[in-house]
Amino acid sequence: MATLTRIPRFTTFRSKNANLFDLPRSRSKPLLFGKAIVAYLCTENKYTYDLVVLGGGSGGLAAAKEAVELGAKVAVLDYVTPTPLGTKWGLGGTCVNVGCIPKKLMHQAALLGEAVHEAVAFGWQIPDPSSISIDWCALKTAVQNHVKSVNWVTRVELRNKKVDYINALGYFKDQHTIAGVMKNGEEKLITAQNILIAVGGRPNYPDIPGAIEYGITSDDIFSLEQSPGKTLVVGAGYIGLECAGFLNGMGFDTTIMVRSIILRGFDQQMANIVAEEMAERGVHFVYEAKPKAIEKQADGRLLVHWVDKDGEVHQDVYDTVLFAIGRRALTKELKPENVGLKLVKESGKIDAVNEQTNVPNIFAVGDVLHKKPELTPVAIHAGKLLARRLYGNSTAKMDYTNVATTVFSPLEYGCVGLSEEQAIAMHGEEKIEVYHAYYKPTEFFVPQKNVKHCYVKVVALRHDDQRILGMHFIGPSAGEVIQGFAAALKCNLTFPMLKSTVGIHPTTAEEFTRVFITKRSGMDPTPQSCCS
Ligand code: FAD
Ligand code: NAP
Repeated sequence: MATLTRIPRFTTFRSKNANLFDLPRSRSKPLLFGKAIVAYLCTENKYTYDLVVLGGGSGGLAAAKEAVELGAKVAVLDYVTPTPLGTKWGLGGTCVNVGCIPKKLMHQAALLGEAVHEAVAFGWQIPDPSSISIDWCALKTAVQNHVKSVNWVTRVELRNKKVDYINALGYFKDQHTIAGVMKNGEEKLITAQNILIAVGGRPNYPDIPGAIEYGITSDDIFSLEQSPGKTLVVGAGYIGLECAGFLNGMGFDTTIMVRSIILRGFDQQMANIVAEEMAERGVHFVYEAKPKAIEKQADGRLLVHWVDKDGEVHQDVYDTVLFAIGRRALTKELKPENVGLKLVKESGKIDAVNEQTNVPNIFAVGDVLHKKPELTPVAIHAGKLLARRLYGNSTAKMDYTNVATTVFSPLEYGCVGLSEEQAIAMHGEEKIEVYHAYYKPTEFFVPQKNVKHCYVKVVALRHDDQRILGMHFIGPSAGEVIQGFAAALKCNLTFPMLKSTVGIHPTTAEEFTRVFITKRSGMDPTPQSCCS
């Protein structure tokens, strides 16, 4: 039986170096006396919190909110270290502040610019559409206003749900104690039964002269004060393609510097179609090249020296250089050595099994996990399931396979499951059937938009039940298209099932229900008629 002792709710003790505000208390079962909630100490519970979450981003917040709903007492530490340029932001993590959300809004801004020209073809009277241009400052302000409103709603939500939010940079003191360094440098100690690492990552800079002084990353672009102008984007992953896509769509002269291949890890045929489409829209590509140095010229512009595959050095001048060369997990800063937390040497990430690290009471979700998709819904899902296992008697585990994703390149690319290369590597070419088709979206005809790169591909087993292993779609609203098919794949969709699905006409998603040409047949996958 637990012994109950009454204590004041916010008792604070000061030690020499730390502000110890963690007198043991439990809110798991608060007792109500009249209207006042009085905190009681369950002497069996040695820690202030049941769960302390390090990182108030997608995964951390999802876990914290779920845990608190299940009766746990939870605190979230979140702290944003400013970028070299000085950019910082509020609560909510990468997705909300410098990731998915501002990116999608800028992508939308670029698509709207395109739509203005299309509108003319549909009869809209727009005086001189060729003279339209983006007001970067207005766009940036609108995007940042939205971001700030989300920061605010997130804080209110945490308060309402009674999750304690602490704006501090946390690190491990011991297995149950976190030190939080506040803005003023003061350190607070917080104890918890369980600790969840959800600190995400931050963009890398290359180790070349001028990179940190003059370069920016995705952490800066969405709140950049002045219009980016002529931009060099280094890196051809998700972020490189997406940023270059919206900048080019807004009319900025944009170049992507590709070290090796486009969209490593993705189906390479699809990746190259995305790049071809971007090139036709005006994005310049410099292949097999790496930046060597950046200098600031007297006029304030940036002189970039870069090396091609033959070692030859070239130069060009840009207004902005944006590095999109991958991200580093923020695990070193946690002082993992203090608790014996193991990191994977090559990535600095955590190789957790069912989100459990090698330390029994320390868990991890989101971008800090080794070889797991760095995507917001993945972090959220894993965080929620973990909280349910810790506090809700659940046994449901996160399934990291068949996670759908979309690259918001101007013409989007959505996919779920295996790429053609992965399917062949796993099953052998003979056992795989690849169905494919080019298609013409109905809405592209009137404005005579380029249909050359609208393409779908279905990768399936050739025999047995003809289970579908991967689906790939390039076209408008690819994310919306692929989401439903991702659910079907989870339910073990087979090719016969797909073929027996009646499409919705006239949509682009219905193209998946119409594919019948196999790559093996060598038949022409381009559409024979315009709109049947
Ligand atoms: P984060 O959301 O990064 O949150 C971690 C938080 O912890 C941050 O606030 C950080 O400041 C804080 N923190 C770090 N260290 C400490 C510490 N020691 N103490 C306290 N706080 C700390 N994903 C998608 O699904 N779709 C997209 O369209 C998409 N677009 C993206 C676009 C860009 C430009 C970028 C950069 C990412 C994008 N992502 C997208 C990826 C997505 O943002 C991440 O996968 C997701 O945010 C990861 O969530 P997380 O909880 O692991 O970490
Ligand atoms: P990324 O996808 O890993 O791509 C990094 C790119 O930079 C690669 O093209 C890589 O080339 C190149 N590169 C690496 N080091 C380099 C160097 N020193 N010099 C020049 N080029 C270099 O990383 P990211 O684009 O930064 O994205 C990080 C993660 O965020 C992604 O994995 C993704 O999960 C998430 N994200 C998701 C979305 C979305 O869902 N739409 C959008 C954005 C980001 P190599 O191929 O040669 O290594």
